[in-house]
Amino acid sequence: MAGEDVRIGVLALQGDVREHLAALAASGAAGVPVRRPEELAAVDGLVVPGGESTTMSKLAVLFGLMEPLRERVRSGLPVYGTCAGMILLAEKILDPRSGQETVGGIDMIVRRNAFGRQNESFEAAVDVRGVGGGPVEGVFIRAPWVESVGAEAEVLAEHGGHVVAVRQGNALATSFHPELTGDHRMHRLFAEMVRSVS
Ligand code: GLN
Repeated sequence: MAGEDVRIGVLALQGDVREHLAALAASGAAGVPVRRPEELAAVDGLVVPGGESTTMSKLAVLFGLMEPLRERVRSGLPVYGTCAGMILLAEKILDPRSGQETVGGIDMIVRRNAFGRQNESFEAAVDVRGVGGGPVEGVFIRAPWVESVGAEAEVLAEHGGHVVAVRQGNALATSFHPELTGDHRMHRLFAEMVRSVS
């Protein structure tokens, strides 16, 4: 399939959907918002944006998307979660809020808000395995970190001794928000993952 033909959905229940759509477009992929199961069924890959993971989880249940999401991810749909999206892709949350569920896909345990509160947000240069051209500019906003990963998950980056980027098969997750910078290398990496299975 020609690169421009891959359709990458952005889960559009809550969070920084528009920024991801723009980053995907800049990476040569067609980005489409996904709110309904029919829309999910029509994409070749899916981005789960940053935002608020409890809200996103509750809306996914309300919109009848939680089970379809789990099924598609289980059957190999390429997914990329940033920040709250990383939390949604974790098999386990260390400190979930009540009613908070996850889609899963990456055998990891995450700690929410691990890097501190909103006013402790920061930017840092992050070396990401498999991403050439120097470190990526990592924007961390009430970001989670990964407490532990299972044998199948590959650590792609660490910051301050904590795991901040992980890949397991077709699932990718970062604690930080590349969609908020002009650097589209993470989105290009994900678009390549989608192309390789489409
Ligand atoms: N702390 C938020 C959560 O738990 C994530 C923040 C973000 O996505 N920027 O969902």
